[in-house]
Amino acid sequence: MTAALMNTYQPLALSFTKGLGTRLWDQAGREYLDAVAGVAVTNVGHSHPRIVSAISEQAGLLLHTSNLYSIDWQQQLAKRLTVLSGMERAFFNNSGAEANETALKLARLYGWRKGIEQPLVVVMANAFHGRTLGTLSASDGPAVRLGFNELPGDFVKVPFGDLAALEQIQRKHGARIVAILVEPIQGEGGVQVAPPGYLKALRDLCNRHSWLLMLDEIQTGIGRTGQWFAFQHEGIVPDVMTLAKGLGNGVPIGACLARGRAADLFTPGSHGSTFGGNPLACRVGCTVLDIIEEQGLLENARVQGARLLERLRAELADNPNVLAIRGQGLMIGIELKQPVRDLTLIAARDHGLLINVTRGKTIRLLPPLTIDEREVGMIVRGVGRALAAH
Ligand SMILES: *Cc1c(COP(=O)(O)O)cnc(C)c1O
Repeated sequence: MTAALMNTYQPLALSFTKGLGTRLWDQAGREYLDAVAGVAVTNVGHSHPRIVSAISEQAGLLLHTSNLYSIDWQQQLAKRLTVLSGMERAFFNNSGAEANETALKLARLYGWRKGIEQPLVVVMANAFHGRTLGTLSASDGPAVRLGFNELPGDFVKVPFGDLAALEQIQRKHGARIVAILVEPIQGEGGVQVAPPGYLKALRDLCNRHSWLLMLDEIQTGIGRTGQWFAFQHEGIVPDVMTLAKGLGNGVPIGACLARGRAADLFTPGSHGSTFGGNPLACRVGCTVLDIIEEQGLLENARVQGARLLERLRAELADNPNVLAIRGQGLMIGIELKQPVRDLTLIAARDHGLLINVTRGKTIRLLPPLTIDEREVGMIVRGVGRALAAH
């Protein structure tokens, strides 16, 4: 069936035809609880009626004019996001990798304005920022990089959460460094949570050396961790932030936001996008923000997230294969000592539960922000049983 597709994924023999809220239905009509939300995308649930009507109404009005004309929904979404985040300006893309490319171009321009000829961006071990050549260079992990050399080498890598290593890099490369690019919680890297105060310390370090603090909130943003953006847990504001995934709830959109010395680096001609910022995607983005506000989903992510973490810890306390359970809000990882073969298939087939496994042995749970207490119970039982059987 996939013979005409390039060999990039190994999809399960499961295909869905319909979704509503936290549930999906397969071709045989069987119901599943979606505890990954398309990898942190469908944050307000599948086929939300407000999103369905926003898409249908906008499709009947206007899909595309290009950025050669001003686009009202784009300006509205930029305004909403800057108010929520404390940033000043936005540029819209179609994906996360593109939003990060926008951020990396800002870092280059920032260095160029300062007269730094070979600018370096500090990135983290175990990071994931996307699949374009630029974002791949900023990412870690042999599997995603294998065969793609020579990758642009203008990055230096330090261990995530390690401040001493950063001071060392500063002493070695200080004059060339222009920015730090970091995920507040590493998602693809196995839901790695930095020690408390880490982002605050990065903020201080960037202030001291006039570096840009660039946060990749593509997975952590739009309510996932119980705040609009994960940096808000630490009371700081970055210079650059990227978004995608949950912003469009399944409609492709990415955004790069900037403030202060990073806000005005682009000038007409220095960046652009054919589809980026189109009326459909931006209207859906505005609708997602409305839904999160009106349904109190930040609060729900905090409450249900804390409940899910606590109940998983209780349920799995005696499981000898569980090494650690960690996370924030509704972004939770269960790290196993030994990988379990076909775990996602077992959870789906035997327990009607969709989960994800990242870096081989960390179960990643990213349910819609709308889940209720009963569904928390279903996730805990499903994960517990899928693991107990092996
Ligand atoms: C998913 C993800 C990306 C890449 O987004 P795409 O839309 O797949 O290009 C980048 N950074 C993080 C943290 C992500 O989770």
